[in-house]
Amino acid sequence: MDKQTVIQVSSISRYYGANKAVNGVSFQVQEGEIFGIIGTNGAGKTTLLEMLMGIRMPDRGSIQILGLDALMEVERLKEDIGIHLQSTSLVDKMNVREALELFQGFYDRKSDLDLIVEQLGLGPYENKMIKRLSGGWRQRTALAIALVNDPKIIFLDEPTTGLDPQAKQEYWSLLRQLKQQGKTIVVASHDMDEIQRNCSRVAVMRKGELVICNHPSKLISGLPGGGMTMEAVYMYYAADAGSISVKVV
Ligand code: ATP
Repeated sequence: MDKQTVIQVSSISRYYGANKAVNGVSFQVQEGEIFGIIGTNGAGKTTLLEMLMGIRMPDRGSIQILGLDALMEVERLKEDIGIHLQSTSLVDKMNVREALELFQGFYDRKSDLDLIVEQLGLGPYENKMIKRLSGGWRQRTALAIALVNDPKIIFLDEPTTGLDPQAKQEYWSLLRQLKQQGKTIVVASHDMDEIQRNCSRVAVMRKGELVICNHPSKLISGLPGGGMTMEAVYMYYAADAGSISVKVV
């Protein structure tokens, strides 16, 4: 693993009975990338992310994160990663500040909560109950929670699902700011426009397999017959529209 590679995934698989949720997936993520993962519902994105986050063990394969064996050194790695799960229901009954303090208590390294609140524009909402926040502000709160330990790598699972277009744009703009601050971001998303605009590389998942992984512009220009958008890439590689052969990353 060279110096800039912060995540090295080698042939990982996770099966649920006969269901190959993730099947022999390999890729690398470089420091400072916004790395996108796309695929249809059930393609295996969440299962893949959960294995990277250390909350689900693969049946096979290995994962190295920041030079550590992610399967053996989960506790050490926990300090260096931030997690934004699909659901924030656990903290519904707290206000924003209480949730940030609660989650920060799980870590040795702590970032300045006032700075996070300021950067994410959460000031006016700090004392509001999370369950009373609109979707956009709940997702910002979840992002703030992912930052409480000043992580080097942030994992985000479909963070903008259900948000209105403006809230989506604002959320992605926050991700760009975090990237500028040197964070590495791995994000599963269905926002094809934003994926195209923001990701340095994108992994396309289909039925548990990584079909192709490349820069958005290369994925687009490589489409047979040409194409203009990530939407077309999604339809060609990820959607269940036809049979394509798996391409090596
Ligand atoms: P979505 O976009 O809907 O979130 P996804 O790409 O994240 O989907 P996964 O949630 O990883 O997909 O699911 C991959 C496959 O694994 C699906 O067939 C799903 O039904 C199955 N699966 C996921 N979690 C479990 C589980 N805990 N037990 C059994 N099967 C599971």
